Amino acid sequence: MPEMALLALLVALGLWFGLYAGLSAPRAHAQENVGSYTVVAGDTLFEIAQRFGVSLDALVALNNIQDPSLIRVGQVLLIPGASHNLAAIPTTLVQTLPGDTLALVAQRYNQDINLLTSLNNVSATTRLFPGQTVRLPADQAPPPLRFGAVREILWPAQLVQGRTGRLTIITERPLDLTADWNGLPLTFLPADESGVRYFTFLPVPALLGPGLFPLTVTYTAGNGEQLSRQQLIPVADGGYDSQIIELPPDRASLLDPTLVTSETAKVVAVWSQVSPTLWWREQFWRPIADQYRTTSPFGTRRSYNGGPFNSYHAGQDFGAPAGVTVTAPAAGIVALAEPLLVRGNAILLDHGHGVFTGYWHLSELRVAPGQQVAAGDLLGLVGNTGLSTGAHLHWEMRISGVAVDPMQFLDEPLAPPE
Ligand SMILES: [Zn+2]
Repeated sequence: MPEMALLALLVALGLWFGLYAGLSAPRAHAQENVGSYTVVAGDTLFEIAQRFGVSLDALVALNNIQDPSLIRVGQVLLIPGASHNLAAIPTTLVQTLPGDTLALVAQRYNQDINLLTSLNNVSATTRLFPGQTVRLPADQAPPPLRFGAVREILWPAQLVQGRTGRLTIITERPLDLTADWNGLPLTFLPADESGVRYFTFLPVPALLGPGLFPLTVTYTAGNGEQLSRQQLIPVADGGYDSQIIELPPDRASLLDPTLVTSETAKVVAVWSQVSPTLWWREQFWRPIADQYRTTSPFGTRRSYNGGPFNSYHAGQDFGAPAGVTVTAPAAGIVALAEPLLVRGNAILLDHGHGVFTGYWHLSELRVAPGQQVAAGDLLGLVGNTGLSTGAHLHWEMRISGVAVDPMQFLDEPLAPPE
């Protein structure tokens, strides 16, 4: 038998020991203290390095990362100096196929090769015996973000400028939770009767980002100690248009700045309240009939007389003739109904838990403060009062004071079902 044929036979029989390494064989570059971390939404490599007290360079080198700005959710990173984490990973055993390497196993099971080399203490390219067992992580899902009695913190996969997300927190036991969303304080409501599920709305200012912004969740433990955890949350671009508005020089002087400031203070004082009851659970209805289309959408960035684009349209304008009926989009309490200088005849509805809708420039008000309304109830009539250049309805939504796109609430029931 020629030598090459003998070699091929030996390889086929798995007898060529020089080509194989036992799974327990020590690795050439043994890492004594290596743990792992699964990337979650909002993570950056820099922040992960900081969190584990390791250098960015060490993290990049150990994980063989080509581009430190490209890490993906669910990716398992090896963390130097934290071997105890690795032992805690629940694993399952699978058998190798003929011709397998750990790299091929990783590919077949959609696993991170670096994690597999550490779990199995064998290099990626070493040929394995057919039928040998390899350890894989039992669960590929990223571990929940937990701390103390907080079991899980859930937020939307993507937050967008000017839109609203829902933040849900699952706890071990009833907790008094608060959150700080990039400087905006948030409180929670029970999501259901369980006593361990809470939610709040996560309004994204139209001019925030895009980028990563901190969300801090806090609760007070039984011993009075405040426990909190911060997570960076990505905010995506809202794709809003820009508009340059030329104001005639005399236009602004029509308004007494003191009166404008006091009007602003008045409406801000109203929509800064957080009622403990959420008055609605379903998606919102349009406040005006379908035939009246949008003339100016929420979020358009505005520059006045060529200045910076540092303001935006805080509501949704519907073009409609004076006298068209305006109705409540959801249940709530009338928090304000009076003539204002800029906003004209104005109504603010309190829908509960910091959610308000506003209706400006009306010709007539048909509700009074304190009145309870249901979805579809008459609020007033379209008009051209206040600082308005033609009959239209300006519909605005404020959540914890932040102006967000009200149209989103027509499509999505953002409150959890009762
Ligand atoms: Zn408007």
